[in-house]
Amino acid sequence: MKHEGILIVVSGFSGVGKGTLMKKLVQDHDDYALSISATTRAPRPGEEDGREYFFISKEAFEQKIADGGLVEYACYCGNYYGTPKDYVEKHLAQGKSVILEIELQGALKIKEQYPTALLLFVMPPDAEELMHRLTGRGTETAEVIEQRMARAMEEAEDIEEYDYIVVNDDLDTCVEKMHEIIMAAHNTPVRKEEFIKNIRAELKVLAKGEK
Ligand code: ADP
Ligand code: 5GP
Repeated sequence: MKHEGILIVVSGFSGVGKGTLMKKLVQDHDDYALSISATTRAPRPGEEDGREYFFISKEAFEQKIADGGLVEYACYCGNYYGTPKDYVEKHLAQGKSVILEIELQGALKIKEQYPTALLLFVMPPDAEELMHRLTGRGTETAEVIEQRMARAMEEAEDIEEYDYIVVNDDLDTCVEKMHEIIMAAHNTPVRKEEFIKNIRAELKVLAKGEK
């Protein structure tokens, strides 16, 4: 039986490996459409406009907010980040499962608007490994790393808002764990409304002996 598409939110501390995990998840499985966010932060070396993000000016971002073009947006460590509405709605309508890799404030807004969204939080095996990955990536200054670690400490207070945590220790294991959780989530009654509705209608007919 074909699944109905679900909206999947993936959050986690900066440097935990979200970008790396998402890349592998969509490479290994055809089931997912990965949303590309808009941001006002500068591209890191190796990032391309339209691939990791749509890199836009603050003015252009504020115009998108005014036009209602974003499903959600948030300010994170001094920059705007937001999810374009068109992509999400188009792919959900096609029955695809859409992944948003976004931070906590955005995740909470999505939960309000899409109550059946599945919220996953990626954790490091321990805080030292997080610091090691964030510095090892070599793309941020010491000041930005400090801001991001402080933000991680704040975000850690709200992890209970999420449906599942996944630990990114071994990358491949974590990708498969995420996929398993998502596959299982497809089978919860709130995400099978159409199927349940149809069976109920069929039962009504059969129970009355009308067939
Ligand atoms: P995020 O998108 O969460 O900020 P990244 O995907 O950029 O994090 O990963 C941060 C750094 O950690 C990168 O250098 C990446 O190669 C590394 N990394 C990601 N996952 C793992 C893992 N499971 N084990 C070791 N290093 C990892
Ligand atoms: P980075 O600068 O490391 O790429 O991203 C910083 C943070 O912004 C990460 O926690 C990332 O998940 C989050 N983020 C990326 N895109 C969006 C978005 O569209 N909306 C929100 N709310 N957060 C986002």
